Amino acid sequence: MTTGSSGAAPRATVYGYPRQGPDRELKKAIEGYWKGRVGAAELHDTAAGLRRANWRAMADAGLGEVPTGDFSYYDHVLDTSVMVGAVPDRHRAAAAADPLDGYFAMARGTREAAPLEMTKWFDTNYHYLVPELGPDTVFSAEPAKQVGELTEALALGLTARPVLVGPVTYLLLAKPAPGVDPGFDPLTLLDRLLPVYAEVLGALRAAGAEWAQLDEPALVQDRTPAELNAAARAYRDLGALTDRPKLLVASYFDRLGEALPVLAKAPVEGLALDFTGPAAANLDALAAVGGLPGKRLVAGVVNGRNIWVDDLTRSLGTLGTLLGLADRVDVAASCSLLHVPLDASAERDIAPQIRRWLAFAREKCAELVTLARGLGHGADAVTAELAANRADLASRANSPLIHDPAVRARAAAVTAADTRRAEPYPERSVAQRARLALPPLPTTTIGSFPQTAELRSARADLRSGRLDTEGYEARIGAEIREVITFQERAGLDVLVHGEAERNDMVQYFAERLNGFLTTRHGWVQSYGTRYVRPPVLAGDLSRPEPMTVRWTSYAQSLTERPVKGMLTGPVTMLAWSFVRDDQPLSKTARQVALALRDEVNDLEACGTSVIQVDEPALRETLPLREADRSAYLDWATEAFRLTTSGVRPDTQIHTHMCYAEFGDVVGAIDALDADVISLEAARSHMEVARELAVYGYPREAGPGVYDIHSPRVPDAEEVAGLLRLGLRALPAERLWVNPDCGLKTRGWPEVRASLENLVAAARKVRAEA
Ligand code: GLN
Ligand code: ZN
Repeated sequence: MTTGSSGAAPRATVYGYPRQGPDRELKKAIEGYWKGRVGAAELHDTAAGLRRANWRAMADAGLGEVPTGDFSYYDHVLDTSVMVGAVPDRHRAAAAADPLDGYFAMARGTREAAPLEMTKWFDTNYHYLVPELGPDTVFSAEPAKQVGELTEALALGLTARPVLVGPVTYLLLAKPAPGVDPGFDPLTLLDRLLPVYAEVLGALRAAGAEWAQLDEPALVQDRTPAELNAAARAYRDLGALTDRPKLLVASYFDRLGEALPVLAKAPVEGLALDFTGPAAANLDALAAVGGLPGKRLVAGVVNGRNIWVDDLTRSLGTLGTLLGLADRVDVAASCSLLHVPLDASAERDIAPQIRRWLAFAREKCAELVTLARGLGHGADAVTAELAANRADLASRANSPLIHDPAVRARAAAVTAADTRRAEPYPERSVAQRARLALPPLPTTTIGSFPQTAELRSARADLRSGRLDTEGYEARIGAEIREVITFQERAGLDVLVHGEAERNDMVQYFAERLNGFLTTRHGWVQSYGTRYVRPPVLAGDLSRPEPMTVRWTSYAQSLTERPVKGMLTGPVTMLAWSFVRDDQPLSKTARQVALALRDEVNDLEACGTSVIQVDEPALRETLPLREADRSAYLDWATEAFRLTTSGVRPDTQIHTHMCYAEFGDVVGAIDALDADVISLEAARSHMEVARELAVYGYPREAGPGVYDIHSPRVPDAEEVAGLLRLGLRALPAERLWVNPDCGLKTRGWPEVRASLENLVAAARKVRAEA
């Protein structure tokens, strides 16, 4: 193998690294600062120490170029808003008085000023703060953070490359500020924004940056010709600057599609492309545009958002093909390593023979270094690494620990009939009405009741051994009894057990299913200082024994009213886990569905008449490109139906989703064939009820009438007003009354008052009918 025509040895690099530190030191320091226990200087020192340790770790692993500017106290999109001076008016005074406190005020809000809205970063579980822009926005360059971090890395003697959110993606992620015409298009601000980027790039050049990376993941989504033109214009203008580093425009999470020729033609010195999963299509597309003559290609061949060891031999093959397509080829993970945990070797509870299949950020860096060496010096230079990698892959491919012929045979034998309820909805509806005898506008909740400090400390005590299983279960039992008593007294119609025993709606099930691994230190940033430990769906999936029957039957034994069984659906189980990469997601979903189907059937067998299967992640996992969506929705809705179709006609299946924009998936919601769906709707004033009505949704629905994202208690008249709006879209026999989502993050006093008001509102509106 030869190196590229420029003769430079290929480098290994990444676009970002986990921020939190091995023991989540960053989270602790920031939360300590919020509580006044940690001073600003101490927080800055902790952060600088973590950055230094991360750069050292990357350099020690052998990365030839480290990223800078990817560090954040909260979120890199918020950092970008600060960098371009896009501070909302309501936070200006705070930001001027103290930049750090102003920054946290934008992220978290204050008594006076609401925070920026938060939403998902593409199809990941990371959340960013949405920039708020308007026709009056005046940008100004604040390069201090970017320059400061570059300077720190250069001072360590490292080759460093600042990483910035690109101007087009920044504008495409923005929304009109409050009070601005909702039709305002932030992209119209491009000409105002580019000079600010020019200034930041100039400052980075002056500080010693040879290259700067501009991330444009928004260009992997379906884009209009006008948006593609804006991208062309942005990089023509930035490329024309004289006082700037070389520019590397990066994209990830999918293929570039029609944006590839635009960027390939742009006067920038390099492109970074994703070559994993559906983005592998970038390879042929790149060849079709004649490659990147004279440019640098950074090839994202190692999956940056999953945790499996790479197939190094295959990646080396891909890299070899790419060599002919650019002036110089470097090796990277497909996206920032922000989306994976730090260090698989810290997982001492995972058996060593399984741990070798895992690659977290640290292990991925080592893989990239091996690949860069193999690319530069030929596969012979990395024979030992490739052999070890092949052995790891082979042991995974053949391991009885994750392959279960019985599970595979059962999944293969699934028929179309298994994925359909035997009776059409009208027949089920009659049977369910007869069995449940509910009033019109029936009231219920979404599942969880407050996860109190006492419940959390009981769980911690159980883990640490201060409390034995018997003691812990007594606490859970007592909590369930209290939740049932409250609901009966409040007058709710369909009760829940309250999910006191569940730490997390995915983890709880993952811990009880064969095929899942859970990690001890595998923290991944969800937003701000919130980190989650997604379980790893490693192998064929089965259910050794019932998972929820015991507490559900216990709750049912305490009341005459129906208690809803409560499960997390197959799509959400996948969405909030690291999934296996050795078979299509649709196959994995089917295995999860079969295990959950057994649980649904067991709940029915023990007398449960209403069973809810939550799918809050159905909408958020929608593929980024329209062309891939129907295939996804087909297998996703099939997995839900496989989970829920084994029951009798008089067993009522509920589902729940919480995401504000259901419009693009109403067809899929219908395809679930659930008898009842509850949806988030309070903030959008029942918009979703109208959307369902316009679609002609034939079954029952509970658009939320109580916004659980805030401690505010809605009064009965407010709830009644929302119900009357709902009744304009859906008839009383098909309209349920429920909160937007589970109540686990709320406190008891507000939950009590809100649910009492909710029941009072339902009674009042029933009486009006
Ligand atoms: N049943 C779950 C709960 O109430 C649903 C949570 C969710 O939709 N995210 O907590
Ligand atoms: Zn929800």
